[in-house]
Amino acid sequence: MREQLPFGLDDVKRWNGTYPTPFYVYDAEGIRNCVRELYDAFSWNEGFKEYFAVKATPTPGVLRLLASLGCGADCASIPELLLAECSGISGSSIILSSNETLPEEYRAAAKLGAIINLDDITQIEHMEAACGIPETVCCRYNPGQFSNTNGIMGHQYDSKFGMKPDQLLEAYAELRNKGVKHFGLHAMLSSCSLDENYYPNLARELFTLVLRIHKVLGIDIEFVDFSGGIGIPYRPEEKAIDMMKIGAAVHIVYDELLTANGLSVRIYTEMGRYITGPYGYLVTRVVGKKHIYKEYVGVDATACNLMRPAMYEAYHHIRVLGKETEPAEITVDVVGSLCENNDKFAVNRGLPLTDIGDYLVIEDAGAHGHSMGYNYNGKLRSAELLMETDGSVSCIRRAQTPEDYFSTLDVDTAFTAAKAESII
Ligand SMILES: *Cc1c(COP(=O)(O)O)cnc(C)c1O
Repeated sequence: MREQLPFGLDDVKRWNGTYPTPFYVYDAEGIRNCVRELYDAFSWNEGFKEYFAVKATPTPGVLRLLASLGCGADCASIPELLLAECSGISGSSIILSSNETLPEEYRAAAKLGAIINLDDITQIEHMEAACGIPETVCCRYNPGQFSNTNGIMGHQYDSKFGMKPDQLLEAYAELRNKGVKHFGLHAMLSSCSLDENYYPNLARELFTLVLRIHKVLGIDIEFVDFSGGIGIPYRPEEKAIDMMKIGAAVHIVYDELLTANGLSVRIYTEMGRYITGPYGYLVTRVVGKKHIYKEYVGVDATACNLMRPAMYEAYHHIRVLGKETEPAEITVDVVGSLCENNDKFAVNRGLPLTDIGDYLVIEDAGAHGHSMGYNYNGKLRSAELLMETDGSVSCIRRAQTPEDYFSTLDVDTAFTAAKAESII
């Protein structure tokens, strides 16, 4: 959660005049500042680039903003590649980081001139059959055991991603023999990490490997992709990481392992959560209050709008707009209307006394929020708004309509449209 919301009750009331709740709103300035700081933190590294993980917030209104700040896109499907393209991100500013990649996905990436990140050594022949051998190829690494200077930090034995060290070396040798000219190295060994040592430790692991690849194969890796995995403080007691500190710590490892050995690489990241997570909010209204064995506050959003609490029991801070200074003295479950008992945005949460009609703001929903949405129970997906510093919003995704819902079904859409019209 952020210390302060960038908007207030009056703003939300105004927006709600045009856009029904629930809706998402993203703080453009928050995202801008975050990206600028990231680039600052790695300004010592020539060619540093953030390839935003499109799956986090696959909305062109946000992707265009990121493109204007110099970001590329990390994609894992053809629609995500198209989202990047239509947001002004093209060529080597796109990386296809997928696994079990299909021939048509390789072909699409190659046609766009995107960087292909291979998840497995067996994918070399799949890629070659689909689109030939590109000049630039990246390989994804799985160290099995992720160790650092303080000992073992975690293991990756049950992770489906990446290649074992020996396979990775074999893959680079094979790719070179097939004519690849430029090489990258990629690894994602954590998720939602608030440990400021994660990137420096990852850097040590990967730069050591760069050195080994140089010594054993005579191949110079040109870019190292740290991927995503940096967390955000969802809970009030958690502390945001200091990106400047992380950049400086990675710099030290870089100089020690690479510069000292006459090597250099461009550092890439593929962060999603860190870039947009704290700057997106789900705004919903209280529609019911229920007192049975527990106290329930019912809202017009459901897990279809934000799945993380239902899926991961994830904590999202909730504020009652206009009641920020009132004591959080009532313990409630904040629930949606799905016919599923896990459709709860909060369980046993202290909130100020709410009334029907109150606006609740569910925080830190800017990444893996709307994008994980679904249509269970025939619930429609909400609009997404982008807020500028003057408090104005633009609609970057309209809300789904019943017509959208029926558009892929084998029904008479004219009939359903007329019916919808007559009953809504
Ligand atoms: C999901 C994902 C990311 C982004 O992860 P965050 O936790 O949102 O930073 C980056 N790269 C790859 C390959 C991913 O699968």
